[in-house]
Amino acid sequence: MINDPTYLTRLRIPTVENPLRILVSGCLAGHSCGYDESSYGEYPVVQKLLQSKRVKAFPFCPEAFSFGTPREMCDIHGGNGEDVLNGKARVLTESGTDWTEGMIKASEKMLELARIEQIELAIMMDTSAACGSLVIYNGNRFAPNKIYQIGSGVCTAQLRRNGFYVISQRDYASLEIVFQKIEVSHQPDEKAKDHHETEWFKSYFQKP
Ligand code: SF4
Repeated sequence: MINDPTYLTRLRIPTVENPLRILVSGCLAGHSCGYDESSYGEYPVVQKLLQSKRVKAFPFCPEAFSFGTPREMCDIHGGNGEDVLNGKARVLTESGTDWTEGMIKASEKMLELARIEQIELAIMMDTSAACGSLVIYNGNRFAPNKIYQIGSGVCTAQLRRNGFYVISQRDYASLEIVFQKIEVSHQPDEKAKDHHETEWFKSYFQKP
Protein backbone atom coordinates (compact mmCIF):
# COMPACT_ATOMS: atom_id res chain seq x y z
CA MET A 1 0.00 0.00 0.00
CA ILE A 2 1.24 3.42 -0.87
CA ASN A 3 0.24 4.94 2.49
CA ASP A 4 -0.91 3.80 5.95
CA PRO A 5 -3.07 0.71 5.30
CA THR A 6 -4.79 0.97 8.69
CA TYR A 7 -6.09 4.50 8.17
CA LEU A 8 -9.37 3.56 6.46
CA THR A 9 -10.23 0.82 8.92
CA ARG A 10 -9.73 3.34 11.72
CA LEU A 11 -12.11 5.89 10.18
CA ARG A 12 -15.07 6.76 12.37
CA ILE A 13 -18.60 5.59 11.53
CA PRO A 14 -20.27 8.66 9.98
CA THR A 15 -23.91 9.62 10.45
CA VAL A 16 -26.37 11.75 8.47
CA GLU A 17 -25.88 14.49 11.07
CA ASN A 18 -22.10 14.16 11.02
CA PRO A 19 -21.17 12.87 7.56
CA LEU A 20 -17.73 11.76 6.38
CA ARG A 21 -15.96 14.77 4.92
CA ILE A 22 -14.40 13.84 1.57
CA LEU A 23 -12.35 16.09 -0.69
CA VAL A 24 -12.76 14.89 -4.27
CA SER A 25 -11.35 15.85 -7.65
CA GLY A 26 -13.95 18.02 -9.31
CA CYS A 27 -14.08 15.83 -12.41
CA LEU A 28 -14.77 12.72 -10.30
CA ALA A 29 -17.77 14.55 -8.87
CA GLY A 30 -19.04 15.03 -12.42
CA HIS A 31 -17.92 18.63 -12.94
CA SER A 32 -16.91 19.52 -16.50
CA CYS A 33 -13.54 20.84 -15.36
CA GLY A 34 -11.28 18.61 -17.46
CA TYR A 35 -8.82 20.26 -19.84
CA ASP A 36 -11.29 19.61 -22.68
CA GLU A 37 -14.35 20.68 -20.62
CA SER A 38 -15.34 17.07 -20.00
CA SER A 39 -15.39 15.20 -16.70
CA TYR A 40 -13.23 12.39 -18.14
CA GLY A 41 -16.07 9.87 -18.02
CA GLU A 42 -18.16 8.44 -15.22
CA TYR A 43 -16.94 6.56 -12.19
CA PRO A 44 -20.07 4.90 -10.76
CA VAL A 45 -18.46 3.64 -7.53
CA VAL A 46 -17.27 7.11 -6.59
CA GLN A 47 -20.56 8.70 -7.63
CA LYS A 48 -22.49 6.19 -5.51
CA LEU A 49 -20.28 7.00 -2.55
CA LEU A 50 -20.71 10.75 -2.97
CA GLN A 51 -24.49 10.36 -3.13
CA SER A 52 -24.64 8.84 0.35
CA LYS A 53 -26.32 10.97 3.00
CA ARG A 54 -23.46 10.01 5.28
CA VAL A 55 -20.94 11.70 3.00
CA LYS A 56 -20.30 15.40 2.56
CA ALA A 57 -18.29 15.94 -0.62
CA PHE A 58 -16.02 18.89 -1.31
CA PRO A 59 -15.23 18.88 -5.06
CA PHE A 60 -12.29 20.95 -6.22
CA CYS A 61 -10.36 21.20 -9.48
CA PRO A 62 -6.90 22.62 -8.87
CA GLU A 63 -6.03 23.09 -12.54
CA ALA A 64 -9.26 24.97 -13.24
CA PHE A 65 -8.45 27.18 -10.23
CA SER A 66 -5.07 28.20 -11.66
CA PHE A 67 -5.47 27.85 -15.40
CA GLY A 68 -9.21 27.91 -16.19
CA THR A 69 -11.18 25.57 -18.42
CA PRO A 70 -10.64 24.66 -21.22
CA ARG A 71 -6.87 24.65 -21.02
CA GLU A 72 -3.84 22.76 -22.25
CA MET A 73 -2.98 19.33 -20.90
CA CYS A 74 0.06 19.31 -18.63
CA ASP A 75 2.44 16.74 -17.19
CA ILE A 76 5.37 16.59 -14.80
CA HIS A 77 8.86 16.52 -16.31
CA GLY A 78 11.93 15.37 -14.39
CA GLY A 79 10.22 13.77 -11.40
CA ASN A 80 6.90 13.52 -9.57
CA GLY A 81 4.65 15.88 -7.61
CA GLU A 82 6.84 15.72 -4.52
CA ASP A 83 9.83 16.67 -6.67
CA VAL A 84 7.89 19.65 -8.05
CA LEU A 85 7.17 20.87 -4.51
CA ASN A 86 10.88 20.46 -3.73
CA GLY A 87 11.91 22.52 -6.77
CA LYS A 88 13.44 19.54 -8.56
CA ALA A 89 10.89 18.96 -11.35
CA ARG A 90 8.65 21.12 -13.55
CA VAL A 91 5.08 21.09 -14.79
CA LEU A 92 4.92 21.78 -18.51
CA THR A 93 1.98 21.98 -20.88
CA GLU A 94 1.91 20.04 -24.13
CA SER A 95 3.18 23.18 -25.92
CA GLY A 96 6.00 23.66 -23.42
CA THR A 97 4.58 26.45 -21.24
CA ASP A 98 5.84 26.24 -17.66
CA TRP A 99 2.91 25.86 -15.26
CA THR A 100 4.99 24.93 -12.21
CA GLU A 101 4.23 28.05 -10.21
CA GLY A 102 0.49 27.95 -10.91
CA MET A 103 0.32 24.27 -10.04
CA ILE A 104 2.00 24.84 -6.68
CA LYS A 105 -0.45 27.67 -5.97
CA ALA A 106 -3.32 25.33 -6.87
CA SER A 107 -1.95 22.71 -4.48
CA GLU A 108 -1.81 25.30 -1.71
CA LYS A 109 -5.43 26.26 -2.39
CA MET A 110 -6.45 22.62 -2.24
CA LEU A 111 -4.60 22.20 1.03
CA GLU A 112 -6.32 25.29 2.42
CA LEU A 113 -9.71 23.82 1.51
CA ALA A 114 -8.78 20.49 3.10
CA ARG A 115 -7.80 22.22 6.32
CA ILE A 116 -10.75 24.61 6.52
CA GLU A 117 -13.26 21.85 5.84
CA GLN A 118 -11.48 19.34 8.10
CA ILE A 119 -11.31 16.72 5.39
CA GLU A 120 -11.10 13.12 6.55
CA LEU A 121 -10.36 11.50 3.18
CA ALA A 122 -9.45 12.61 -0.33
CA ILE A 123 -10.39 10.75 -3.52
CA MET A 124 -8.32 12.00 -6.44
CA MET A 125 -8.30 11.25 -10.17
CA ASP A 126 -5.27 9.13 -10.92
CA THR A 127 -2.65 9.90 -13.65
CA SER A 128 -3.30 13.66 -13.41
CA ALA A 129 -0.24 15.89 -12.94
CA ALA A 130 -2.28 17.61 -10.22
CA CYS A 131 -4.48 14.90 -8.68
CA GLY A 132 -2.66 11.63 -9.46
CA SER A 133 -2.24 9.51 -6.36
CA LEU A 134 -0.32 6.43 -7.50
CA VAL A 135 0.49 6.57 -11.21
CA ILE A 136 1.35 9.65 -13.28
CA TYR A 137 2.95 10.23 -16.64
CA ASN A 138 6.69 10.68 -16.85
CA GLY A 139 6.86 13.65 -19.18
CA ASN A 140 4.47 14.43 -22.02
CA ARG A 141 1.57 11.97 -22.20
CA PHE A 142 1.07 12.78 -25.87
CA ALA A 143 4.61 11.68 -26.78
CA PRO A 144 4.75 8.63 -29.08
CA ASN A 145 6.44 6.57 -26.34
CA LYS A 146 4.48 7.83 -23.35
CA ILE A 147 5.80 6.48 -20.07
CA TYR A 148 4.10 6.02 -16.70
CA GLN A 149 5.83 6.40 -13.38
CA ILE A 150 4.84 5.62 -9.80
CA GLY A 151 4.21 8.87 -7.96
CA SER A 152 1.75 11.54 -6.89
CA GLY A 153 0.64 14.61 -8.76
CA VAL A 154 1.53 17.96 -7.24
CA CYS A 155 -1.71 18.53 -5.32
CA THR A 156 -1.89 15.01 -3.94
CA ALA A 157 1.75 15.32 -2.85
CA GLN A 158 0.84 18.55 -1.08
CA LEU A 159 -2.07 16.90 0.73
CA ARG A 160 0.02 13.89 1.74
CA ARG A 161 2.98 15.85 3.05
CA ASN A 162 0.49 17.69 5.26
CA GLY A 163 -1.05 14.53 6.68
CA PHE A 164 -4.13 13.93 4.55
CA TYR A 165 -5.03 10.46 3.32
CA VAL A 166 -5.53 10.14 -0.44
CA ILE A 167 -6.88 7.28 -2.55
CA SER A 168 -7.85 7.21 -6.21
CA GLN A 169 -10.99 6.27 -8.09
CA ARG A 170 -9.24 3.00 -8.99
CA ASP A 171 -8.59 1.89 -5.41
CA TYR A 172 -11.64 -0.37 -5.28
CA ALA A 173 -10.58 -2.31 -2.18
CA SER A 174 -10.13 0.93 -0.27
CA LEU A 175 -13.47 2.21 -1.52
CA GLU A 176 -15.09 -0.99 -0.25
CA ILE A 177 -13.80 -0.20 3.25
CA VAL A 178 -15.29 3.27 3.03
CA PHE A 179 -18.63 1.82 1.91
CA GLN A 180 -18.61 -0.45 4.97
CA LYS A 181 -18.19 2.64 7.14
CA ILE A 182 -21.07 4.58 5.64
CA GLU A 183 -23.44 1.62 5.27
CA VAL A 184 -23.17 -1.07 7.95
CA SER A 185 -25.21 -3.53 5.87
CA HIS A 186 -22.84 -3.18 2.91
CA GLN A 187 -21.57 -6.55 1.69
CA PRO A 188 -17.94 -6.01 0.71
CA ASP A 189 -16.66 -7.31 -2.61
CA GLU A 190 -13.85 -9.56 -1.45
CA LYS A 191 -12.34 -9.56 -4.95
CA ALA A 192 -11.97 -5.79 -5.14
CA LYS A 193 -8.38 -4.62 -5.61
CA ASP A 194 -6.57 -1.38 -5.22
CA HIS A 195 -4.80 -0.14 -8.32
CA HIS A 196 -1.35 -1.22 -7.13
CA GLU A 197 -2.67 -4.81 -6.83
CA THR A 198 -3.86 -5.07 -10.44
CA GLU A 199 -2.18 -7.14 -13.11
CA TRP A 200 -1.60 -4.05 -15.25
CA PHE A 201 0.27 -2.29 -12.46
CA LYS A 202 2.39 -5.31 -11.57
CA SER A 203 3.30 -6.14 -15.14
CA TYR A 204 4.01 -2.54 -16.18
CA PHE A 205 6.23 -1.63 -13.26
CA GLN A 206 7.98 -4.98 -13.03
CA LYS A 207 9.23 -4.69 -16.59
CA PRO A 208 13.01 -5.20 -16.84
S1 SF4 B 1 -6.96 18.84 -12.17
FE1 SF4 B 1 -7.82 17.14 -11.00
S2 SF4 B 1 -9.97 17.75 -10.68
FE2 SF4 B 1 -9.18 19.01 -12.33
S3 SF4 B 1 -9.74 17.92 -14.19
FE3 SF4 B 1 -7.64 17.33 -13.66
S4 SF4 B 1 -7.90 15.44 -12.47
FE4 SF4 B 1 -9.89 16.47 -12.52
